[in-house]
Amino acid sequence: MPFSSLGLLPSLLHAISESGYLEPTAIQAAAIPAILQGHDVVGSAQTGSGKTAAFSLPLLQLLNTPSVEKSRDRSTRALVLVPTRELAAQVGEALQLLAQHSSQPLRIMTLFGGVSINPQMMALRGGADIVVATPGRLLDLLDHNALSISAVSILVLDEADRLLDLGFADEIGRILALLPERRQNVFFSATFPPAVEALSKKILRNPKRIAIAPEPASQPDIVQRAIAVDPKRRTQLLVHLLKQNKWERVLAFVATKYAADYVTEKLHRSGIKAAAFHGEFSQGARTRILAEFKAGDLQVLVATDVAARGIDIPQLPVVLNYDLPRSAVDYTHRIGRTGRAGETGIAVSFISADTEAHFRLIEKRHDLRCAREEIAGFEPVETLSSETSSAIARTMNADTLSENAPDNPANGGIKGKRKSKKDKLREAAALNQKE
Ligand code: AMP
Repeated sequence: MPFSSLGLLPSLLHAISESGYLEPTAIQAAAIPAILQGHDVVGSAQTGSGKTAAFSLPLLQLLNTPSVEKSRDRSTRALVLVPTRELAAQVGEALQLLAQHSSQPLRIMTLFGGVSINPQMMALRGGADIVVATPGRLLDLLDHNALSISAVSILVLDEADRLLDLGFADEIGRILALLPERRQNVFFSATFPPAVEALSKKILRNPKRIAIAPEPASQPDIVQRAIAVDPKRRTQLLVHLLKQNKWERVLAFVATKYAADYVTEKLHRSGIKAAAFHGEFSQGARTRILAEFKAGDLQVLVATDVAARGIDIPQLPVVLNYDLPRSAVDYTHRIGRTGRAGETGIAVSFISADTEAHFRLIEKRHDLRCAREEIAGFEPVETLSSETSSAIARTMNADTLSENAPDNPANGGIKGKRKSKKDKLREAAALNQKE
């Protein structure tokens, strides 16, 4: 099906062809006509499914149609709420690109924290037709009367599950209270646990449901591998794999900021161009590091889960779980960084005796079974530690992996016990993203 059959304006079709998109992705084919018709839409959309354009294109069209009265004071008519700074920047960029040929120039503002609020307040004086924002910074700006959202006609919640994971429920509630009752709502989420389902029910009115994209975990264009290796030898094995497979660009996920810095340093010592990427860096530093990685100046980006959602790195052939993710959902988001938009990708997980049981739960969740590979010279020798075996015994009865729960058994977190240092670090990382 061509884009031209979706009822989009010629200016948008022009921008689409310049972006090199040949035909709509499944979510675009379903969501674009529904949003154009004015329906509320709820979409089960994974990262990499093309969901940004799926809401951006109809949103731009609806705001560009002369029948939509353009208010003189240029009040904000569309609001896109996203969980992270990276996603805000990315969605803002996509909107700018797709809007570039529009007959009525639209002002698109991207607002997120971690940077000074003053330039954003100044820029908002000129008004903004479309605002893409993280919830915390939006509320700060609303508190400063820097903008009004009382005339918003379209609300988009992107990655709603992540918004709730990051603890934005209260902020979303406050924002909803400031929006007009009559508006169109678009709601995208990769997963629909009960809290997300409840939020969608609260926001949406008689929505069209779109659930097409399979989880990246089951997509054939991502080859998933599990390599058994002792934890102490992981960096050496990574260096070996980089050389042996001539991997030019690898996104390696670790559990903590400390691990990101530590592994990066070890890679430097082995002559690998690498950088750490985590919530402790300023927004400017994060943008620069990402640009270097995208430009091919870095071979390995060692990231915490801050990078697991939202950021789009075209041509990323390999994602590595140096540390396993806490949950099956995080696994999906991590590996979804590769194999995007039809490219093929490899997702490798390093497994040790202590993390084997946790990986099995992730496999079970995804109905997946990866053969455990061993690489010559790196065969594991360690056996299960006593701490892990008793943790497994305790959690086996539950037999479920609770998404993003602080008591998740990943990497040693044990149900019912008080929070580990790692849990606290992770929570701090999540808090860092809250702007
Ligand atoms: P998203 O899921 O919105 O993060 O998009 C993932 C990637 O797919 C981005 O790099 C987009 O530029 C790209 N993309 C979006 N729509 C299409 C399309 N119809 N054809 C090819 N690539 C696309």
